[in-house]
Amino acid sequence: MRYLLILFGFHLLISQDKPNPKLTEIWEPEPEIVTPGIQSSAPSDAIVLFDGEDLSKWKNARGGGDASWIINDDKTMTVTRNGGIETIEEFGSVQLHVEWKTPLKMEGKGQGRGNSGIIFQRRYEVQILDSYKNRTYSNGQAASIYKQYAPLVNASKPPGEWQTYDIIFMEPEFNEIGIMTKRGRLTVFHNGILVQNNIEILGTTEFIGMPKTGKNEVSGYMGKETKKALYIQDHGNPVSYRNIWLRKL
Ligand code: MG
Repeated sequence: MRYLLILFGFHLLISQDKPNPKLTEIWEPEPEIVTPGIQSSAPSDAIVLFDGEDLSKWKNARGGGDASWIINDDKTMTVTRNGGIETIEEFGSVQLHVEWKTPLKMEGKGQGRGNSGIIFQRRYEVQILDSYKNRTYSNGQAASIYKQYAPLVNASKPPGEWQTYDIIFMEPEFNEIGIMTKRGRLTVFHNGILVQNNIEILGTTEFIGMPKTGKNEVSGYMGKETKKALYIQDHGNPVSYRNIWLRKL
């Protein structure tokens, strides 16, 4: 509204004169220059969490020891049955890029095939699943906000092919006494296709029961302690990952 009034003021000032396009030009602040990545490599201001070399940015989420998932020769890593891994660093709102692949050898069905997940702050899971010709509940398939929102479309590639998630996570806000004053939000692109459009996160991801919204709540399957780490789920299936980076927002 303020800007409209200013513009109207300018209009009164110059209406007798020649139109002046400069009056509506805004020069400051200049948007910061960021070099776009080539294909899906990390942009210049990203925090690279996994580039295929090691798991030094991660730890085992169960007990806090070294992350011990398998690092493959092709700069990828694969879930092993040692529990989930989470970043050592903690993050608020982020833009996240992650590439993943479910096993070529299809085993199990429904939630048992290629299950893993990207979990923000031990609370909110973006599901990873082999959802290529593998029906399960819609709000539990790949790119769902697990048990909350089905993806807008199923953009899944076949098992054994690399897939991408580009996720914008806006963390919730809480007041001094721990009441949520602003819900978190998620936008997800799956293989470049918009599948979650700025949805309002209902609360913690829960396998059983309803989402919880308190400041100190974590998902029922994520222990008790709150932490703003980024977590990748071990759900017993050898899902692989590569090229993981984020930008703080
Ligand atoms: Mg999962």
